[in-house]
Amino acid sequence: MTTRTVLVINSGSSSIKYQLVDPDSGQSLASGLVERIGEETGTIIHRHAGEKTQLDEPVPDHGYGLSEVLRLFDEKGPTLSEANIVAVGHRVVQGGRYFSGPALVDEDVIAKISELVPLGPLHNPAHLKGIEVGLELLSDVPHVAVFDTAFFQDLPEEAARYALKREVADKYSIRRYGAHGTSHQYVSGEVSRMLGRDDLKQIVLHLGNGASASAVVAGHAVDTSMGLTPLEGLVMGGRTGDIDPAAVFHLGRVAGMSVDEIDYLFNRESGMKGLAGDNDMREVWKRIDAGEQDARDAMDIYLHRLVKYVGAYTAVMGGLDALTFTAGIGENDDRLRAELVERLGFMGMRIDADKNSVRSGDGRIVSTPDSAIAVLVYPTNEELAIARQAMTLI
Ligand code: AMP
Repeated sequence: MTTRTVLVINSGSSSIKYQLVDPDSGQSLASGLVERIGEETGTIIHRHAGEKTQLDEPVPDHGYGLSEVLRLFDEKGPTLSEANIVAVGHRVVQGGRYFSGPALVDEDVIAKISELVPLGPLHNPAHLKGIEVGLELLSDVPHVAVFDTAFFQDLPEEAARYALKREVADKYSIRRYGAHGTSHQYVSGEVSRMLGRDDLKQIVLHLGNGASASAVVAGHAVDTSMGLTPLEGLVMGGRTGDIDPAAVFHLGRVAGMSVDEIDYLFNRESGMKGLAGDNDMREVWKRIDAGEQDARDAMDIYLHRLVKYVGAYTAVMGGLDALTFTAGIGENDDRLRAELVERLGFMGMRIDADKNSVRSGDGRIVSTPDSAIAVLVYPTNEELAIARQAMTLI
């Protein structure tokens, strides 16, 4: 193999995605996924040269998962030595005010990512494990951290600052940092290219197990739904999204819950899991089809929140040209897309039922030609975006 590659490691809360990317062609040379880390059963899938290897085994933690991944590279190819890896790119959710772009990993960067753990409690610790194992096993190439918050570092102050007493907010760095920025930046950029316009007013809905919305005008983010941490905003797999902060005081005073218990409740036991009993949308639809009212209510709460954000961001931008769905739910759940666009029909948005039901890995327009707003499905490719950002530093 003569191409230069970047190994991108996306070490998440319960999963590790990895990809060996040729940043010049955009081609993925190998990829894989470790799923359900910390659960009773786990799965590791490695893909290379059309061959898929699957291991079904418990994956107790991220360190174990990543070492299994590297073993699979050597067993199934390409071996790490033949891959010509020139950099490792690590996805990092929370970069706080420190990082408005990618950063070469050194002790100082690691210390800052650690310092930011309280702002990204579900993610930064997992990233640090990924970085630690990566540095150990691939010590002779540069490692680059690419931050999910970087795209949102230039949000207008009116969108980034909460109406919290100024001295307290500044002393404790409380502001909207956003998350999923690499995805929002990549998808909005690709949609601009696809529609041949660089002046678009766009909303990107990144709907995965974590979910966020962004408003992007002419390539610049003007608002986003995740805030100080990835807890704020949309209803997610296990997170509440928006909730009156007074619920925290109430649970503390009336239920006697500790801050850590409430944190766990809001971040892990709520969202679709807390409402419908499962965080996976496929399972939620099964329950809806079986007539479970809680599941239908959960879906309606999920959709209601989305309608509110689309309406609010359209108002913030003074219009909307394109609404794009991305990530696990956004890319795959045509039923959810159809129900949301139906609710947004008052805006003149119309979905083409046939185009919407096509399953494809390509970015595509799913609205009708007479829709006032283009509706798109565009697969996010955070790995390619990370690989390209990493290459800018080496
Ligand atoms: P992500 O975090 O982007 O990997 O998205 C993971 C989530 O995508 C899962 O928890 C599911 O809820 C959702 N998902 C994946 N495939 C489908 C599908 N075919 N239909 C509906 N939801 C899906």
